[in-house]
Amino acid sequence: MKKIALVILILTITGFVVFIYNPSGEIEVNIDGEYLDLEDPVKTGEDILFVPAKLIFEELGFQTEWDAENKILSASLGDFRIDLPVGSQKVTVNGKIIKWDNPVEMFDDIVYMPVSAAVETLGAFVEWDESSRVINILTPQEYFDPEKQNDQEGPVLKVAYPPAGRVNYYGHSLFVFGTTQSFSEVHVTVNGEPVDILDSRTGNFLTMVDIPRGEEFPIIVKATDSKGATTVERSALYPAAWQPMPLEPLTIHSAYLIPAEDQVLKLGDILRIAIQGSPGAEASFSIGDRNNRVKMTELAYPAGPPGEGGIYTAAYRINGSDVSDSVISEPMRIFVSLRKGEEEVVRELPGRVRFLSATPYKIVEVKEEHELKNRGWLYVLRDSAFQLHAGTLGGAGYLTNVVSYLVEGTRYEAVGMSGNYYRVNLYGDQIFLIHKDNVRELEDKSALESSLSDIRLLKTGKKISLSLKATERFPFLVEDGINKLAVKLYGLGIDEDLTLPALPEIVNDLKLEVNTAESSDSMVLNIELDQNIAGFKSKWNGTKLVIDIYKPPTVSINDPLKDKIIIIDPGHGGKDSGAIGPGDIHEKDVVLAMGLHLKDLLTAEGATVIMTRTEDKFVNLYDRPERIDLYNADFFISIHANAHAHDAPATEIHGLMTLYNFAHNEELAEIMLSTMEEEMDLPAFRTWRRNIAVLRHPHIPSILVEAGYMMHPEDNWHILHPRGQKEFAKAMKEGIIKYFLSFAE
Ligand code: ZN
Repeated sequence: MKKIALVILILTITGFVVFIYNPSGEIEVNIDGEYLDLEDPVKTGEDILFVPAKLIFEELGFQTEWDAENKILSASLGDFRIDLPVGSQKVTVNGKIIKWDNPVEMFDDIVYMPVSAAVETLGAFVEWDESSRVINILTPQEYFDPEKQNDQEGPVLKVAYPPAGRVNYYGHSLFVFGTTQSFSEVHVTVNGEPVDILDSRTGNFLTMVDIPRGEEFPIIVKATDSKGATTVERSALYPAAWQPMPLEPLTIHSAYLIPAEDQVLKLGDILRIAIQGSPGAEASFSIGDRNNRVKMTELAYPAGPPGEGGIYTAAYRINGSDVSDSVISEPMRIFVSLRKGEEEVVRELPGRVRFLSATPYKIVEVKEEHELKNRGWLYVLRDSAFQLHAGTLGGAGYLTNVVSYLVEGTRYEAVGMSGNYYRVNLYGDQIFLIHKDNVRELEDKSALESSLSDIRLLKTGKKISLSLKATERFPFLVEDGINKLAVKLYGLGIDEDLTLPALPEIVNDLKLEVNTAESSDSMVLNIELDQNIAGFKSKWNGTKLVIDIYKPPTVSINDPLKDKIIIIDPGHGGKDSGAIGPGDIHEKDVVLAMGLHLKDLLTAEGATVIMTRTEDKFVNLYDRPERIDLYNADFFISIHANAHAHDAPATEIHGLMTLYNFAHNEELAEIMLSTMEEEMDLPAFRTWRRNIAVLRHPHIPSILVEAGYMMHPEDNWHILHPRGQKEFAKAMKEGIIKYFLSFAE
């Protein structure tokens, strides 16, 4: 049994209850926004509320019957029937016995039932508002409408995932989830097999199906109750790794061609060529108008033995004969040839190549922070991971990882280009990529000649400032630890008379390690504090790099949140719905409800709360954390509800997750996760360190909470339930308090 259109109901109802003044202290009952006329008062037990059963059932549209001899109150709606024997915890629902935590009671000749158990047995939600002393019961009207019940032939069935229409899935298994509504017992099958999980309280279900590769696979979801069956059909396609090209006529695929975009490469770089064509042929490529052909190899992986897949690759190292006297060659076209006997086909690749004889290619400087937006990242090439199909950065076929955020004003020597990305060196032989829109080209193209002349440490109340003065701005990368930072410096000379500063009390160690390896042009400045850091921030002041390292906040043990400024970021909003739930409820709605509750709770603890949104509207991901600086905030929390990747083992993995972005937030992520697990009836799944847009500000404690999985029936009972949303908010509040208390004296 179950409920839809819930969010709208919650919003209207909370509007009602907030303003209720209830001087007598008597408890009121409100159903879908209307107060009941209670002839018999609500009775309270220890942590339990009893409501008059007959009145509540009749308000919900049920017919009731009183069996005086056996002392059983029965209620029915359509073919749904519930029997409540007085004095017993065992009630009968459609002939099946269910045990409640508290018994049905009789006070003053009136039958009373424990409100939570009763209402939830009916598939409605109940919420106790202690401040206004109101019991709110929320029902989906259409569901409790007896006329609609009679019209319905089978149960209501909604399949939220997979969606209707043709969608491709990449994975051998796929989850199917949705919701049913029925007053009688309902069975749900997918392709004839019972679903793995079906929550009888909500009718929400989740199951996994295996899908074969390469063919359209039907998914038939069927819900059956005593009145009939409802069927919803979906289909899934797990495309073949690639369609083999025909053996005849000899063909080269028109799309699977690497490089897909122009490349600028220097001596020693690898040019990767890859194509798909007819299997079992001889493949080669040539550059420009040169006659020498370079042989390509047909891959054995993953389509089967050579001669079946038709994927041909070559990795060509740029050598001395490629680079001429001119600094950079003209763009050269690349041709691939496929030959079988007399037959030959030739195709030009979309990406051209230029060779660089001397570096740098360009000197670039990172633009102002507000201009960086969604591509303000520094990527590292994963040379080992190569893909023909995926949209790889720069169209060169290599996959990438984000390693850092770009810092305004930093200068880099570009040693080439891949599509729209500059290739830069930072340390070792690794190549990093920066999108060209994030940097401006400097006119002076001579190599960055910078020398480090001064290192200082300045201690102020809130922070330690490490400043590195050089003759030019230089490339750098900060790697963070729990109580330390490693500042990697690239291509930087050292003044002869450079000395390290005296260490203030809080600093344990400061060490400059120069990498003497032949190919390397880098050094690392390590700084270690005698306590955990709360954050750091790097910025340029002229040619001086200043890294502010923040100390943990001062916290009063009695009032840990007093005067703290906390940003709450309810995820998604407006056109961005986030994850879909089993009915018509989306992540954006539930996380907003949780965020608003959290705001009230934190405000009551003396904190000042700034919300990134208070209504259902779209807020740009990159604008959200800007409030951190705007309000000089002490803490940032982003609230989300999780979604599985479609091939994840969704029935097994569920529960709470916290995400963080910097090592100094790892402890926060662990405290939040374990506190929420203690506070809530949900398992702690994991903490996860990830580069996330809203967590890119390293200077204040920042965390993202995934409050359960939207599609998992156990989780979404808590997520969709108004009481559950309050519990999530309370659990997050406790986590924040525990984190701040970890710094208290
Ligand atoms: Zn989300």
